[in-house]
Amino acid sequence: MPTPQPDPPTEAQNPWRWLHAALMPDYNPRATAYWWSVLTLGSLALGLAVAGLAGVGPGVLLQVGVGCAIAMLAGLFPVRIPGSRNSFAAGELFIMLLLLLHGPAAAALAAAGEALVGATRTSKRWTSRLISPATACLSMMLTGSAFQAATDALGTRSAVAEALVLLLAMTAAIGHFLLNTSLISLVPQLKRNEPLRWNQFVQNFGWVGTTYAASALLAGLLYLVFKASGVGVMAAAVPIIIALLVMLHYHFRQRESDEKAHAQRIEAAEREAAQSARHLQQLRESERRFHSAFSHAAIGMALVSADGRVLQANPALAQLLGCGDDDLTSRDFKRHVHRDDLPLLERQWRGLVEAGAARQQADGPDPDTGPEAEIEVDAAAVELRCLRADGSAVTVAVHSGHFADRHASEPCLILQVQDISARREAEAKLQHIAYHDGLTSLANRIRFGDCLAQAIARSKRDAGYGFAVMYLDFDRFKLINDTLGHSAGDRFLTMVAQRIREAVRPGDTVGRLGGDEFAILIDGMADEAPTLAMADRLQRMLAEPYLVDGTEVNSSASIGITFSTVGYDTPGDVLRDADIAMYRAKSAGRARTALFDASLRAQLAAQVNLERDLRRAIEQAQLALAFQPIYDLSTGRIDSFEALVRWDHPELGAVPPATFIPIAEDAAMISPLTDWVLASACQRLREFQRLQGQGARPRLHVNVSGTDMCRGNFVSRVSTALLANGLEPGQLTLEITESTLMHRLDAALQVMAQLREIGVGLSVDDFGTGYSSLSYLSTLPITSLKIDRSFVQRLNADAKDAEVVRAVLTLGHALGKTVIAEGIETPEQLAQLRRMGCQFGQGYLLARPLTPEMAAAVVQADRLRDALGATEAPRPDANGATSATSATSATPAAAEPDTGTPGPHAPLALH
Ligand code: C2E
Ligand code: MG
Ligand code: MG
Repeated sequence: MPTPQPDPPTEAQNPWRWLHAALMPDYNPRATAYWWSVLTLGSLALGLAVAGLAGVGPGVLLQVGVGCAIAMLAGLFPVRIPGSRNSFAAGELFIMLLLLLHGPAAAALAAAGEALVGATRTSKRWTSRLISPATACLSMMLTGSAFQAATDALGTRSAVAEALVLLLAMTAAIGHFLLNTSLISLVPQLKRNEPLRWNQFVQNFGWVGTTYAASALLAGLLYLVFKASGVGVMAAAVPIIIALLVMLHYHFRQRESDEKAHAQRIEAAEREAAQSARHLQQLRESERRFHSAFSHAAIGMALVSADGRVLQANPALAQLLGCGDDDLTSRDFKRHVHRDDLPLLERQWRGLVEAGAARQQADGPDPDTGPEAEIEVDAAAVELRCLRADGSAVTVAVHSGHFADRHASEPCLILQVQDISARREAEAKLQHIAYHDGLTSLANRIRFGDCLAQAIARSKRDAGYGFAVMYLDFDRFKLINDTLGHSAGDRFLTMVAQRIREAVRPGDTVGRLGGDEFAILIDGMADEAPTLAMADRLQRMLAEPYLVDGTEVNSSASIGITFSTVGYDTPGDVLRDADIAMYRAKSAGRARTALFDASLRAQLAAQVNLERDLRRAIEQAQLALAFQPIYDLSTGRIDSFEALVRWDHPELGAVPPATFIPIAEDAAMISPLTDWVLASACQRLREFQRLQGQGARPRLHVNVSGTDMCRGNFVSRVSTALLANGLEPGQLTLEITESTLMHRLDAALQVMAQLREIGVGLSVDDFGTGYSSLSYLSTLPITSLKIDRSFVQRLNADAKDAEVVRAVLTLGHALGKTVIAEGIETPEQLAQLRRMGCQFGQGYLLARPLTPEMAAAVVQADRLRDALGATEAPRPDANGATSATSATSATPAAAEPDTGTPGPHAPLALH
């Protein structure tokens, strides 16, 4: 039960509570009530004791005072029994003596005094210091009074009576002890609310009770001696007893401290012994762990002597080397190492053993002779090949460390051997991926560059060494990719790679630099003739048809070659020049080979300049347009115009569109160029429309590139140009060359369909050069075809060409397409075309490309002629020959070549 906490007391308000809180805060009400009761009874007993001595004489008082003083003194020097926690109750001897001599009052006073000294010595609490004398006094008063009553009743002075007095004294002493102890023990029991346990009590205090009895016996004997021999004996005996007790007190204290020191020594020795046993245990444990780790390790481990003899090996090592455990022990580890790698291992071991010996010398002998084994810090790893029992090689990492085993007579090494073949393989794979093309497994650009760098370095070191580099580009790869799909393109490239590999010598390096571009480093060959012969062989092998996904594909390569004799410093320079030569080969036609020479580099520089100038020309609108009329051959009237771009370069003069249009395409300038052409052409068309008068709807052809046709925003760009000039979409026809169209058909089809949807005409230009089948045309959203001028120009000379033209005309008409013949240069060509039923034509014979002003003049003349009456106008005769008189100009069209600039050429009227 928790102790009730008093309210904050103040002395004036509640001194009782204050006293309680200060002295006995841990006392519950029962314990408090008991304490006070016992204290009150004890005080009463004390009062009675004092009163009981009131009438005695001074001699007795002196004896009582001396007895009390000796009892209190004995309380100060308890004679502790060695080996027990109990003390000999020396004070009891004198208390019992006082009881026997002077009755219970004297004994109670002495008991109170002795208890006060004992409690003051052993406790700091006033509750204990007060209750102990109270209980002692009360107990002695009661048991002493009972003793006195009993001895009084005994009365006689016989020997039996004296023996009985002794017995009674002993009983009184035990009774006093029991009562006193019970009274005092009740205090803590009540505080803890525990019942009094007698067995525990007897256990705890039994021995003390015996000493009480012994004290009482001794006191009784003294008393009997005193009675028999008088006070003299007593006067002699008491100091002797005191001296004896004091001696005993110090003797036992000395013994106790000796025993304590002895026990401490024993304890320390035991502790030390336990500690070293633990240490030993730990070492054994550590050794056991080491051996367990050694035997169960997943990696191979071995202890070897400095000369390589295996002292111990674990099963993992035996497994790694493909042999049994016994095959390893006592054998030389080095016999498992690849011969070429052995020096590496031996060097390492030598270093380790020397380092170990040097350290041992520096440290001196190790004072610790414990049984432990340890791996010392000198350790090194080396990667080498080991030979398995079956003869196969395994790549391992051998980690060797100096091993100090206290039992070993010689220094030894511990080896950790790890199989790293898988890691090596993965590394090799990564290396391969990093330096090879994933599709063809040929060297990639990085690796090819590295090989080239080595070749360059060697050519600089060694005057007799040279090399050639071939740069290959495939002529129809894009078409294969576009028509057969990318996976077919990939298979084609794989076949190409295989053929190249077969064509070169083993020492040459073949690389794929990207897309369909390949390069070959021909090692040690710097002469033109053998290199060209090799290129020829390569050309022939590459020109053989390829069977890709069941389709036969024809292709050829353009090859550019450069030689180390040019004098290169970097791989980039070599590849750049080989690439330049390849471009030269490509522009010369299909399946060509070209050698690099310095002039090519100049050409390239010129091209770079041209590109820069063209950019400026587009930005600053330095371009111009020429307009070449397209005639209706049946009426001889101008049907429409074709707008042709012109660039008059400030220094170079007229640059033909065939030169600068590809540059514009390559350098991403084609969109602004087309936008400019569209805007300017539509502006002129509006002017022609105005000149022709109300209701007139003149038509115009504008050339666009394949790049334009593949741009999603192209339809809106065209619409913008038309809208800006108030033109109808039907007035505009966009021309795209057949080859461009076929190359980029997939991407262009959607834009073409949208253009047709808004009403813009579409024409296939240079028809017959792009390898498209005639029947395929029917599926395309086009309105007209322009027969390439090469066919027209060979009309008279080659009957086969005439048939081609006739077939195009027949099929074109059958499909409802308008067919226009380009490049009509002679009256014969014109007549033949007419005979074949070709309705529209264009060419120098009829009219050269005109300046915008001249074109406007022609339009105006046309209108004038209409106003004068068509009957006056000359018409082509039945043979197709024209009466070559111009309605607008007296200058006949000459069959001289178009310079590409707006010239002063007047159109030929077919009237
Ligand atoms: P194209 O579209 O086939 O244009 C006809 C080309 O033949 C023009 O050359 C023209 O001057 C020329 N020509 C016309 N009649 C005859 C003839 O009787 N005999 C000969 N030998 N030639 C004749 P040009 O102007 O040099 O144009 C070359 C090509 O450049 C054009 O071929 C066209 O594909 C392209 N091109 C011209 N202007 C543009 C343009 O504004 N944009 C685009 N993307 N390409 C254009
Ligand atoms: Mg054209
Ligand atoms: Mg053409």
